[in-house]
Amino acid sequence: MLYIKVNKKDADKVRKLLKEKDLFNNNYLTTSDNSFVYFPIKKYIDIGYEIIEKRGKRIERFNLENLLKKYNIKSFSLDFYGNIAVIDVDKKYAKLIGDAIIKHYKRIKTVLLKCGAIKGIYRTRKFCFVSGEKNYIANYIENGCRFIFDIRKTYFSTRLAYERKRIYEMVNDKENVLVMFAGVGPFAIEIAKHKKAKVAAIELNKDAYRYMIKNIEINKVNVEAVLGDVKEVVYNYKDFADRIVMPLPKDSYNFLDSCLIAAKDKCIVHYYAFGKIDNAFDEHFNKIKEFMNKNNADIELISKRVVRPYSASEIEIVIDFLIKKRK
Ligand code: SAM
Repeated sequence: MLYIKVNKKDADKVRKLLKEKDLFNNNYLTTSDNSFVYFPIKKYIDIGYEIIEKRGKRIERFNLENLLKKYNIKSFSLDFYGNIAVIDVDKKYAKLIGDAIIKHYKRIKTVLLKCGAIKGIYRTRKFCFVSGEKNYIANYIENGCRFIFDIRKTYFSTRLAYERKRIYEMVNDKENVLVMFAGVGPFAIEIAKHKKAKVAAIELNKDAYRYMIKNIEINKVNVEAVLGDVKEVVYNYKDFADRIVMPLPKDSYNFLDSCLIAAKDKCIVHYYAFGKIDNAFDEHFNKIKEFMNKNNADIELISKRVVRPYSASEIEIVIDFLIKKRK
């Protein structure tokens, strides 16, 4: 390896010059002894200092792709929740990858492994601790809002960040918005942060509700947070909503009756659902239409989109539709 040998008093000046001229060899470590600093360089240069050849120490870089290739890891995912990274990988490789993540990403203090599927009414999952500090409280920023939540006790998906932005951008300042299944508050808080609309948010899980209250405070927004079952609480919001968000893809259909109770005529609904890749939209739209028809209402499709892949054969979709209540 080529090094330029510089007396210590000139080291800063030479370091700057090497950077400016793009002569630094960034793959090797700079070393020093009592009198000299040795900068690794890409090629010979004549700037009045001795050039020597010596064995260099390579800088180890974090290269996830190489790591996955080296151990022939086929299935892997990585999500960042602010200070926490969540990986999904065969347990036997978790520590190896977790330690590499902690070493490489300064802001990541904890690495957790997904240790089960999302389950139950609260839509939570088990996480196993892997590396760094043993902590499960995420502190995550999305679309200009900060969210704090216990990742084991509440649902949160960073993969919905675009979807939440798409929704708050559609909201008008004069609307009443009802967010059902609000979790720790991301849809409701982002809407209230970006628009002057009146926002109410209903959540059944006590832990999620407590974090929603905290997040409302942190983000200094006005959201009416309600702890309870949408099926019951909705009667306090009869004919309230110009817009309803229904982010419970596993079970939205069973809450269409609540949706009709809260909806004003011409209410816009954002309806999330899981479905088969080839017919998710038709299947859900037809079911919604049939339900509304039986309940004295018509619907008009505004738009539809795939939110994200969910499994090998399923996707999460959102259907935006308008409710027209019959007189
Ligand atoms: N909207 C949040 C988000 O995007 O992060 C959370 C969505 S999560 C898929 C669904 C949430 O609905 C969970 O927090 C769960 O506790 C809540 N939930 C389930 N059934 C409910 C019900 N009947 N009434 C109110 N909330 C409910």
